[in-house]
Amino acid sequence: TALVNKIAAGEVIERPASVVKELLENAIDAGATRIDIECQQGGAELIRIVDDGCGIHPEDIELAITAHATSKLADADDLFRVQTMGFRGEALASISEVSSFRLRTRPADLEMGTEITVEGGVMTAPRPCGAPAGTQIDVRQLFLNTPVRRKFLKSQATEFAHISEQFTRLSLAQPRIHFTLRHNDKLVFELPAVDDLGDRIEQVFGTELRGRMIPIEGDQAGLRLWGFTGHPDESRATRKAQYLFVNGRWIQDRTVQHALTEAYRGLMMVGRQPVCFLFLEVPPDEVDVNVHPTKAEVRFVDPQRLYRLVLSSIRRKFLGLNF
Ligand code: ADP
Ligand code: MG
Repeated sequence: TALVNKIAAGEVIERPASVVKELLENAIDAGATRIDIECQQGGAELIRIVDDGCGIHPEDIELAITAHATSKLADADDLFRVQTMGFRGEALASISEVSSFRLRTRPADLEMGTEITVEGGVMTAPRPCGAPAGTQIDVRQLFLNTPVRRKFLKSQATEFAHISEQFTRLSLAQPRIHFTLRHNDKLVFELPAVDDLGDRIEQVFGTELRGRMIPIEGDQAGLRLWGFTGHPDESRATRKAQYLFVNGRWIQDRTVQHALTEAYRGLMMVGRQPVCFLFLEVPPDEVDVNVHPTKAEVRFVDPQRLYRLVLSSIRRKFLGLNF
């Protein structure tokens, strides 16, 4: 199974940012209200994530770190009705297989915490430890047993930029959670819980950008769109500042990109891209999230309907405005 896990890890755990994404999703699924992340050297030396979520009961810990153990799937049909962020049941297995791994966890109703470590793929028996309610995971020396993969890590700055991007996506989707992110002992983001997306945008991107965002909303036969789209003079050379979330999950989508281009036609120089933060709520049976290993792309049953929704929601808003 070690080999199987390494192959799975190759798909899912590509770099430190992949670890951060998986662990953040788990902490969010666990109902955390506060999540603190600490990285050393672009995450290659240490990724530590502390949450105040539900914790894991001692008898469930070993299973949680075993491949394809997930507490989040009732049956295969659930794959098409994604309520939670993670649902493959292999992230902890994959991460612990390729790192020096320590988990400490305590459900609030227990007095003692439990600790487990995995070194070189070998798991220690769970032992009691003192721990705050919630879960702390330390991932040290990522890819220590896959030297080629470790060697291919980019500079600290580049790896941290990827971490920061994953952090940004997940924190935008969860404004009511208090997040912090540290790199090499420096506080990079401190995002206290806020009520809504607009406030979170302001925390992450600053007051000026927040002031240039226009709220939009719309719905069409069961699809609902809401969020913010940028004033046309707020443009970028790339699509990096176009954030799209489907049922709470960050994704990339061509249909939405095309609709944005069309909505801003004539308002922006060719090649420039608007900034936006769009949330799309889709009935689970109208979207297939299992087309991409890291779920960065999804497939819509009716992309044309989505295209019209995005285009009309933005156009309607722009009609009354004088740019
Ligand atoms: P998945 O998230 O797909 O179920 P993971 O390997 O990411 O698979 O996690 C395995 C299991 O471990 C989860 O289903 C959950 O029960 C438990 N778990 C992982 N991280 C946490 C956490 N931070 N708090 C509580 N439970 C967790
Ligand atoms: Mg998970």
